[in-house]
Amino acid sequence: MRHAVDLSGRVAIVTGANSGIGRSIALEMAAAGARVVVNHRPNEDAERRGADVVQAILRAGGQAVTAAADISREEDVEGLFRVALDHFQNVDILVNNAGIERPAAIQDMTLAQWQAVIDTNLTGQFLCARAAVRAFLNRASPASADGAAGKIIFISSVHEVIPWAFQANYAASKGGVSLLMQSLAQELAPLKIRVNSVAPGAIRTPINAPAWNTPESMASLLKLIPYGRIGEPEDVARAVAWLACDDSDYVTGSTLFVDGGMTLYPAFRGAG
Ligand code: NAD
Repeated sequence: MRHAVDLSGRVAIVTGANSGIGRSIALEMAAAGARVVVNHRPNEDAERRGADVVQAILRAGGQAVTAAADISREEDVEGLFRVALDHFQNVDILVNNAGIERPAAIQDMTLAQWQAVIDTNLTGQFLCARAAVRAFLNRASPASADGAAGKIIFISSVHEVIPWAFQANYAASKGGVSLLMQSLAQELAPLKIRVNSVAPGAIRTPINAPAWNTPESMASLLKLIPYGRIGEPEDVARAVAWLACDDSDYVTGSTLFVDGGMTLYPAFRGAG
C-alpha cells in the first residue's frame, strides 16, 4: 500500500543520489513535490547517472538539479550547498545517503580501506549535517509556521547494531552514525530541527550485489530475513519520505529499521 506524503515546495539534498537507494529517495521525494538536489561523485559515470535521475524527475513534471561533490571533502560539501541555495534559495531536508564498503579481514585491512569508509560514511555525513544546520539557521524566513525548521535523515544500516565480520570499518562507521544522529537530535530539537536515521537491511543495490545476484547467495541471504524477501530501494525511500514530511513532526532521534526483521535475531527462531 502506498503511503502518500506531501513535500510540496520543500528543497531536499540527497547525497549519492545517482545510484541505488539514493536514486530511489530522490525520485520518491520529487514525486511527493520536493525540489531535489541530486548529488553525485565528481566523475563521468556518476555524472551521467545523476543526470539520468534529474531527467526522470523533470519528465515526471518535478524539479531537480545535479550537484557534483565528494562528500568526504569539506570544500566539495560547501559547493554542494551553494548549488542548492543558488538554484532553490533554501534547504529544508538533507538525506545523508552516500556510503561505501571496503571489506577486508582485519589483519589485512589497510589504513586506506579503513580511512575511505570512515571518511565517506561518518565524516562525510558530519560535514553534510553541519552544512545543513548552517543553512537551516541562516534562512531569511522560517521553514514553516507549524512544522520543523529543517530535517536531517541519516541512511545508516542494520550494521549500526549488528556486528559485521570482515567489514569492521563499515560497522564502526554506522555505529558512529547512530550516536552522531542521536547527539544532533538532542542538540537541535530546541531549534526545531529534526534528526533521524533510516537503517536498511539487505536492499537490492550495487553496493551488495554479491549478496543477492546468484540463486545460492540469495537463498543464504533470505535465511537472515524473517519477512522472506530482499528489500527494494523503494522500501527505504518511502520511509525516508515519511520522516522528511510533517506527518512525522513529533519524531526525532529515532532509527527506523527497514529490514524485513533482520535485526530480530532470526537464527533464534525455534532455538535457545
Ligand atoms: P550504491 O553503491 O548503489 O550507492 C551509494 C552511492 O553513494 C553511489 O551513488 C556512490 O557514488 C555514492 N558515493 C560514495 N561515496 C561518495 C562520496 N564520497 N561522495 C558522494 N557520493 C558518494 O549503494 P546503496 O545500497 O544505494 O547505498 C546507499 C546507502 O545505504 C549507503 O550509506 C549504504 O551504506 C546504505 N545501506 C545500504 C544497504 C543495502 O543493502 N544496499 C543496507 C544498509 C545500508
